[in-house]
Amino acid sequence: MNIGLLAVDSNYPNLALMKISSYHKARGDNVEWYNPFDQYEKVYMAKVFSFTEDYRQWITNTDQIEKGGTGYDVSKTLPSQVDKAVPDYSIYNIDKSLAYGFLTRGCPNGCKWCVVPQKEGKIAPYMDIEEIAVNGRKNIILMDNNVLASEYGIEQIEKIVKLKLRVDFNQGLDARLVTDDIARLLARVKWIKRIRFGCDTAAQIADCERATALIDKYGYRGEYFFYCILLNDFKESFYRVNHWKEKGGRFLPHCQPYRDLNNPHQIIPQWQKDLSGWVDKKWIFRSCEFKDFAPRKGFKCSEYFY
Ligand code: SF4
Repeated sequence: MNIGLLAVDSNYPNLALMKISSYHKARGDNVEWYNPFDQYEKVYMAKVFSFTEDYRQWITNTDQIEKGGTGYDVSKTLPSQVDKAVPDYSIYNIDKSLAYGFLTRGCPNGCKWCVVPQKEGKIAPYMDIEEIAVNGRKNIILMDNNVLASEYGIEQIEKIVKLKLRVDFNQGLDARLVTDDIARLLARVKWIKRIRFGCDTAAQIADCERATALIDKYGYRGEYFFYCILLNDFKESFYRVNHWKEKGGRFLPHCQPYRDLNNPHQIIPQWQKDLSGWVDKKWIFRSCEFKDFAPRKGFKCSEYFY
């Protein structure tokens, strides 16, 4: 069979497409990135976000199309025989030391801006780190949404320490769940660059402060990175993001404007774009206050404070 893969809206390595590729190659099929000039038995289309544009062109050069990903259907999952496949990292030319995966799926919380509980349900064990760190891959990007909410997840982190793997929990950890024991454990992990936390409400500033102080107490000296959702309130959002600006040094915020998954025509408020623009351009963020940031000719962000 000739199989086409189409990543509609993201260049970030797509785990599902890598597993689909692996599954088909193991069956002797030819797998390639979709090309409108070739002919396929099946084309897999993956769309990550619901607010991005769909693939514009009409696809006629295949017998079958299979669509998946949160951008098409939050409830769709891979068949178990595909899900178990070791990802085919070659389709993204991923370094031989790097692997991607999940130890757990789901989250027990119900934050109103988040699709995870609807998509994946309550938290549950999913894979063992040794099933992900295969073929000598020692640097692991883990996409768990709330690994500390799971006893199994914590045991897996203990295993990560024993195996001396380097990891990045790239969706962030929940600072509220960092106890003294967990802080000691996290300080022993070899992190790829940084530890990430969610800092989505004003109350979570104190949780993140407490968690990072505890981890530091056990010897961690690396960077901290805080995901900050931007909701409706400019002052609250600014205060939360600017808290980490004032803290400085190893503490870096990252803004995420809220996306309404049920409203593909949602317009992101300009203040959210400007706050994100300030935070994400690190050389500007480090050197100027938000009120002095001038993202457009004739406009200074000090106007948001009037
Ligand atoms: S804790 Fe994180 S993953 Fe869980 S619902 Fe809230 S935002 Fe989503």
